[in-house]
Amino acid sequence: MNKSETLFQEAVTVMPGGVNSPVRAFGSVGTTPRFIKSAKGAYLYDEDGSRYIDYVGSWGPMILGHAKEAVIDSVVDACKRGLSFGAATAIEVEMARLVCELIPSIEMVRMVNSGTEAVMSAIRLARGYTGRNKIIKFTGCYHGHSDGLLVKAGSGVMTAGVPDSLGVPAGCTKDTLSAEYNNLNTVTEHFQRCGEEIAAVIVEPVAANMGVVAPKPGFLKGLRSICEEYGALLIFDEVITGFRLGIDGAQGYYGVKPDLTTFGKIIGGGMPVGAYGGRREIMELVSPVGGVYQAGTLSGNPVAMAAGVTQLTILKEHPEYYTELNEKADKFYCNMQEILKKSGYSWQVNHVGSLGCLYFTETEVTDYESAKTSDTEAFAAYCKHMMAHGVYLAPSQFEAMFLSLAHTEEILNETLKIMEQYFLAGCR
Ligand code: PMP
Repeated sequence: MNKSETLFQEAVTVMPGGVNSPVRAFGSVGTTPRFIKSAKGAYLYDEDGSRYIDYVGSWGPMILGHAKEAVIDSVVDACKRGLSFGAATAIEVEMARLVCELIPSIEMVRMVNSGTEAVMSAIRLARGYTGRNKIIKFTGCYHGHSDGLLVKAGSGVMTAGVPDSLGVPAGCTKDTLSAEYNNLNTVTEHFQRCGEEIAAVIVEPVAANMGVVAPKPGFLKGLRSICEEYGALLIFDEVITGFRLGIDGAQGYYGVKPDLTTFGKIIGGGMPVGAYGGRREIMELVSPVGGVYQAGTLSGNPVAMAAGVTQLTILKEHPEYYTELNEKADKFYCNMQEILKKSGYSWQVNHVGSLGCLYFTETEVTDYESAKTSDTEAFAAYCKHMMAHGVYLAPSQFEAMFLSLAHTEEILNETLKIMEQYFLAGCR
C-alpha cells in the first residue's frame, strides 16, 4: 500500500469520507485521493513522490501556477507581522480599491472567507435591498452550501425548491425558485407568476459546476433586462469566472453588468477568501452602515489579503496574460476535440477561455439536462487512466478543468498525447 492509500485508510476513521470537502474524495471514479505534499507551477506532488500535471488548480485560484514566488513572498512577509488582528488594516483598503478599480460594476466591496459566505451574504443583501424574499437560481449551478441554495438540481423546472441535503428545513428553500440555464422562458414564467416577490436572480455567468456550459448569446443580457423590468437584482456568481476569463471577469467578457457580484478563491491567490460587491447604494445597506447584518472575525485577514493583492496586482499589470492563457486554452481544447474525432468519438468538448470540460455524450451540452446525458462511467474510466498517467483531473464529470499560466505548450501537449493514446486505443 502506498502512502496516499495508508493516509486515506487513517483519514476515513477520523474525517467523514476521509476528506474535508466531498469533491476531493475520488470515490465516484472508483479510486482513492492522492494526498498532496507540495505543488509548483503546473505540477502537484503527492506523498509518494509522484508528479501530476494539475488541471484542478485548487479549483480555480492558481491561475498564475502553484507557489508563485511573488505570492508566497508576500504571504511570508505578512505572516511575520502577525496572522490576524481582528482590526482594520491598510491592505484591506488596497484590496477593496483594486477590486473596485478592476470591476466596473463594483463601487464597494466586502471581504468574507469563502464563496459560500459571499453568495449567502449577497442574497441577504438583495433581499434587504428589495424587501422581497424569493430568488431564482439555475438548475445545475452551484453557489456554495448555504441552506437556501442547496436546492435539488433536476427537480421540476417550475416547482418551488426542495432541499437537496438532509438537515435543510423545507422552510429554508421555499423561496428558492429553479429555472433552466440558457432558457429565458423559464425565468420569465417565474416573474410573470410572482415577479413582485422576487429579490434576485443569481447565475454563474459561465456555468462551471455541471461541467462547463457557456451562456447562449443573449442569455445574460436577457436576464439583465428581465431583472430591470421587475425591479429584481441580478447577481453574477463569479467565484469561478472572476479574474479568470479576463481581468474584469465574465461580466467584462460578455459585456453585461450585474447589480451584485460574488467572488472567491482566485481573489485570495489560494488563501481562504471570498467577497461580494456592487453599486454603492446597495452596498451601503450592509452593516454597520445599513441594516443588513453580516460580519466575520477573520474577514479581510491580512495574510489572505497579502496573497490576493499580490495575485490581482500581477494580473492587472499583465493584461497580456489573459490573451496568452485564453489562446493557449483555445488551442488545447480544439486539439482535444480533434483527437476525439480522429479516434471516432463524437463527444463534446465545451470551453470558455481556460475553463473547459469533456462530456462523454454526443448531445450538445447547453444545460443541466443535456449535461446529465454524459456517460459518467466512461468519464470515471478516463479520469482513472489520466491519473495513472500523471494527469490530475477533478474526479467528477460535472467539474471544470482549470488551465493556468504555468501550463506551457509542452505540458499541454504531453497531456494531449496521454489522452490520444487512450482514445485511439478505444478507451483502454
Ligand atoms: N459559487 C461557485 C460558482 C462555486 O463554484 C463555488 C465553489 N466551487 C462556490 C460558490 C462556493 O465557494 P466555496 O467553496 O469557497 O464556499
